Amino acid sequence: MHVIMVNLDWNNLPFGYIKTDHNVRSYFRNGEWSKLEITDSEHINVHIAATALHYGQESFEGLKAYRGRDGKVRLFRWDENAKRMISSAKGVIMEPVPMELFREAVFTAVRLNEKFVPPHGSGASLYIRPLLFGSGAEVGVKPAAEYTFLVFVSPVGPYFKGGVKPVNMMICRDVDRAAPLGTGNIKVGGNYAASLRAIVKARDGGYGNVLFLDAREKKYIDECGPANFFGIKNNTYVTPLSSSILPSITNKSLIAIADKMGIKTERRPIPVEELEEFEETGACGTAAVISPIAKIVDPDTGKIYEYCKDGKPGPVSMKLFNKLIGIQYGDEPDEFGWMTVVEV
Ligand SMILES: *Cc1c(COP(=O)(O)O)cnc(C)c1O
Repeated sequence: MHVIMVNLDWNNLPFGYIKTDHNVRSYFRNGEWSKLEITDSEHINVHIAATALHYGQESFEGLKAYRGRDGKVRLFRWDENAKRMISSAKGVIMEPVPMELFREAVFTAVRLNEKFVPPHGSGASLYIRPLLFGSGAEVGVKPAAEYTFLVFVSPVGPYFKGGVKPVNMMICRDVDRAAPLGTGNIKVGGNYAASLRAIVKARDGGYGNVLFLDAREKKYIDECGPANFFGIKNNTYVTPLSSSILPSITNKSLIAIADKMGIKTERRPIPVEELEEFEETGACGTAAVISPIAKIVDPDTGKIYEYCKDGKPGPVSMKLFNKLIGIQYGDEPDEFGWMTVVEV
């Protein structure tokens, strides 16, 4: 198989935006979605009264395409992202993107930018960003009558250059990213805007990210910045159950892998004090798969929970990490049926 690739420094890609050749768009107007439009423009023309701009009527997704040793490009669980985007759309009363349109848009965007899919072995991948927003004009607070759906891609490096590096996290009690009956369980920009004050404060303090607690009681672990939290103890993978957590596809996949490996799994509220009992903790999501946590600092009580005393990620986290990226890059058998080859 002859693979043509653009000339990029694949081994040193940042996790950031790099211009590719094309992106795709579809517009919902007069009750129907338009045919997919292919463009090389990096810009959109948005009405000044679009509901997305004023009232935050928008949602996004993030998934990746990986190049295997065989040169083929594979997508990881794209249908899960499609379903989640439907749930996000319903959560802020937007027109849901049909599964078939989502599929066509994502596969087309990858196919048209195939030469930007990083080579196998570089640790890099092609990040895919679907975006849906209210583009119809309204001044009063109500759902738009028109929607724009677009998909762009960008080659990204591994979140951690030079291997998986444990990070420090800061517990946060003075900011809530989402309320129990709010929008924490859907992927909408408003949650990110609400989390920025805490994230910037944590970063300024030298932390990798922030550990949010449940908004009602501040007793339980909620999200870990823009990722889900997990802890490992007694051969058990424990992850929080909460109505304000975004259902991570990575987390769900790690649970399935753990289960198959004979590691017990639990999804339940995790009291802050339980941090003391974990042997390993980590954050998980598409960008980094797993970010092991070295230390969790509670600035209000002065407590410090330490995990990777030798500076290395824990063995269970690494076992799960290696298995999942093995499946994604096609090095391990796709025993769960998660991968779809993009025919180019
Ligand atoms: C996207 C996201 C995640 C991770 O979900 P994945 O499907 O694993 O990428 C976790 N938390 C939040 C808040 C998110 O927006």
